[in-house]
Amino acid sequence: MIMRKVGIMGGTFDPIHIGHLILGEAAYEQYSLEKVLFMPAGRPPFKEGRKGMASNEQRTEMVRRAIASNPHFELSMLEMNEDGMSYTYRTLEKLKEEHPDTVYYFVMGADSLMYFDTWMNPQRIADAAIIVVATRNHMPQESLDEKIRQLTEKFHASIRKLETPNLDISSSQIREWVSQGRGIQYYVPDPEIHYIEEQGLYQDI
Ligand code: ATP
Ligand code: MG
Repeated sequence: MIMRKVGIMGGTFDPIHIGHLILGEAAYEQYSLEKVLFMPAGRPPFKEGRKGMASNEQRTEMVRRAIASNPHFELSMLEMNEDGMSYTYRTLEKLKEEHPDTVYYFVMGADSLMYFDTWMNPQRIADAAIIVVATRNHMPQESLDEKIRQLTEKFHASIRKLETPNLDISSSQIREWVSQGRGIQYYVPDPEIHYIEEQGLYQDI
């Protein structure tokens, strides 16, 4: 059986920025993926409207706009549950059950890999997907390699590195810039910037 290869880029995306988009595209290219699913994480509705945070609907719309121009990027609502409870292992197992012919490449930044042990059921995540990790926050390669060695041993995980420049950008930084009235052009795609302005997002964080 010829296996299909699909990437998953998960995140809070509050808001989605070029760091996320470049990771998705690098994974698509470097691992010859068929497509990359952008999967915004749900947040419990009672947590919505917390000072300065975008709602589930707004985060979803920003992702939709940010990926619209890329034919091999796709929005996936699998982690947008009503109650805001979603676990990566469950999402991956569900996907694999529905698509037994697909190998999933779960893309993340090095900061997320550092906390992999604390995710719910890391063993089941490692069993269900290949993990693809990109550098972040100028983490020394030796530290990243050491973490990869450790997780590979502990979970028999399959972890691959992504080749990207260190992208010094985060959603928190963008929220801060917007609240200060500083421009975010080129850090965030234009159609998404228009939406942020229209909705008055991150004015008061
Ligand atoms: P926040 O500042 O609110 O934590 P964030 O920029 O880290 O937001 P998330 O939605 O938390 O964005 O990140 C989703 C995934 O994308 C994580 O795996 C994270 O490590 C990765 N990621 C985000 N920005 C970058 C970046 N600039 N370089 C590499 N990985 C990144
Ligand atoms: Mg983060």
